Amino acid sequence: MSATSSHRPGAHFLQLPGPTTTPQRVMEAIARPTINHRGPDFRDLTVEVLDGIKGIFKTAGPVIIYPSSGTGAWEAALVNALSPGDAVLMYETGWFATLWCRLARKIGLEPELIPGDWRTPVDAAAIGERLRADKAHRIKAVCVVHNETSTGVTSDIAAVRRAIDEAGHPALLMADLVSSLASVDYQHDVWGVDVAVGGSQKGLMLPPGLSFNALSPKAIAASKSAGMRRSYWDWDEMLEANARGFFPYTPAINLLQGLREAIAMMQEEGLDAVFARHQRAAQATRAAVAQWGFETQCRDAAAHSPVLTAVPMPDGLSADAVREAALERCNMSLGNGLGQLDDRVFRIGHLGDFSDALVLGTIAATEAALAFAGVPYRAGGTEAAIAVLTGQAQRGAPGLAA
Ligand SMILES: *Cc1c(COP(=O)(O)O)cnc(C)c1O
Repeated sequence: MSATSSHRPGAHFLQLPGPTTTPQRVMEAIARPTINHRGPDFRDLTVEVLDGIKGIFKTAGPVIIYPSSGTGAWEAALVNALSPGDAVLMYETGWFATLWCRLARKIGLEPELIPGDWRTPVDAAAIGERLRADKAHRIKAVCVVHNETSTGVTSDIAAVRRAIDEAGHPALLMADLVSSLASVDYQHDVWGVDVAVGGSQKGLMLPPGLSFNALSPKAIAASKSAGMRRSYWDWDEMLEANARGFFPYTPAINLLQGLREAIAMMQEEGLDAVFARHQRAAQATRAAVAQWGFETQCRDAAAHSPVLTAVPMPDGLSADAVREAALERCNMSLGNGLGQLDDRVFRIGHLGDFSDALVLGTIAATEAALAFAGVPYRAGGTEAAIAVLTGQAQRGAPGLAA
């Protein structure tokens, strides 16, 4: 809120790629009274959410739930499975990959970041090549971001697993799913991921405050001899308490009540329908962007993110000016450019809980913001989006597959 306008009438459009709008049903579940975290009702809640969240990760193994932002679960993944000085191979998809790498270095690991262009997905072949050169198996983990939220590029995690296996390398595979979980298909067991990292405030439709580690048997085995110091993040204590229906310390009880409701909503809709809804919204958004005459930050047609679209502005034009117009004139928040994309791109979030009306409202308001900001664009983006959502766009039209 700016100092000059104390009240903006109407619903705020929180069109960020996280945090996302929390649906009323989830808010009401969170608003229910806090219960005793050592009592029988809580035990039932624990069993229900721990079981339900496995279905979201598509794993038969345990999922750990922390009272933290996604960053905490990044750290937890590393400190539980690795030892000081371990080499870790990462891939520079964008800002979030860079942050995870920085975290790894700060806590005493030796990350190596394969350089990327912030416009294309993880190159699994480059990972395979680097692993084949690591004859001594110094690299203990490969860490990749499934959906790079700074660029709107989604990577093929199963291909990374294949590259590791084909190189005959024993490294663990860790995947950051913070912005893809519950929005883009993810198959923890089938894809052979050892540690997956999630967060609550994106596709899961919750406020910030919960994070996740999904574990493979190999990750749990590695944790038994992993030498990084840890206490609060320790999987062992958590798994032991969870097995009894509890947590080793006071959990985020109300957020867990919300998580139970969010999982129920996704089960009612069906996960495949949730994923398809995200794909449609992304296609409609890309159709609008193409009509406006802009590129997308993602330049690999097979890697467009279903959860957000990052739109670079033509040289000399400020993306932040568009975001400011969206906020001041349309009561809508768009995502800002991160790192090297600061003021270069704005990001349109289309994830979590949304209808066609919200998608179209977001696109129309973005189009209006371009006009308010004085950015030259070709009109008709909203119509292009309607054509996609109503199935009337020609195959091969912008945003659609050929
Ligand atoms: C949001 C995000 C994070 C960081 O999560 P926080 O909850 O802000 O700590 C990490 N990785 C990706 C891909 C994200 O989108």
